[in-house]
Amino acid sequence: MKVLYTSSDFNCWRKTISPSNSVGFVPTMGALHGGHLSLVEASLKNADMTIVSIFVNPKQFSKDEDFDTYPRDLEDDLNKLKQYNVDIVFVPEFGDIYGYPGDAVVFDDPFSKTLEGASRPHFFPGVLDVVSRLFNIVNPNFAHFGRKDAQQLILIEKMVGDLGSPITIIPGETIRESGGLAMSSRNEYLTDEQKKSAEVVFKSLKSAKKLLDSGVVDSGVVRELINNIMATEKIIEVDYVSIVHLDGLLEVDHEIGGEVLISIAVVINSIRLIDNIFY
Ligand code: AMP
Repeated sequence: MKVLYTSSDFNCWRKTISPSNSVGFVPTMGALHGGHLSLVEASLKNADMTIVSIFVNPKQFSKDEDFDTYPRDLEDDLNKLKQYNVDIVFVPEFGDIYGYPGDAVVFDDPFSKTLEGASRPHFFPGVLDVVSRLFNIVNPNFAHFGRKDAQQLILIEKMVGDLGSPITIIPGETIRESGGLAMSSRNEYLTDEQKKSAEVVFKSLKSAKKLLDSGVVDSGVVRELINNIMATEKIIEVDYVSIVHLDGLLEVDHEIGGEVLISIAVVINSIRLIDNIFY
């Protein structure tokens, strides 16, 4: 496993790779957990070479968010990745990503305005900018993204499709702790007691699925069930409970029909967590 810290070193390495070798890419912000590592495993199975990037992207944090305190432990991340035998870990500096080509890459899409985009308007412009810059440097055949960040995954698939990019996006299932809490680097901020309370998020999504399985189609009834279950944990503040059609990411007002994304964003002691299911 090689660790490369600059895009020029990366470019030198990239030139040595024959076009007949496929390249899989897993972009991350580090503080690696089982969710990230499941994407790494998928890439190792799928492609000849696997590249993991670690870059905490300041552009996707607002001034009052946790960029400064975001968990960072490069040594621990590298130890984990070594066990998986990835080919390259790319750990660029800010100037390396944003110094060239200079201007922000703007992919403005109506899908970026709802859900996370409504709560965090800075977020998707920052994510799509950094992902497109990383794609330009890494030039992968495949890129792996988790369904846990469902709207991010959908927007990246759209960006790649709209730009006619040859990169294939491969989604990965959400990996959870044993109690159902979706793994997240931000879980590190939570006490055990807060993590236990946070399990109510997935519990309510599972109950929503059961209700839909039983034939209920009224989105209001499903939202109410989720809200009632969430209300049993007093320390949880609900940011949104949302059921959107996949073909527009707009709220389902009445009957649920076709594929929907049911997602929840909560805040526990100022830590924001998201989770979802596709149904
Ligand atoms: P991050 O480091 O949070 O930017 O995440 C990097 C990648 O890991 C993104 O594609 C995320 O969707 C994915 N990811 C994060 N948490 C999970 C999880 N619990 N299960 C699967 N993928 C995840």
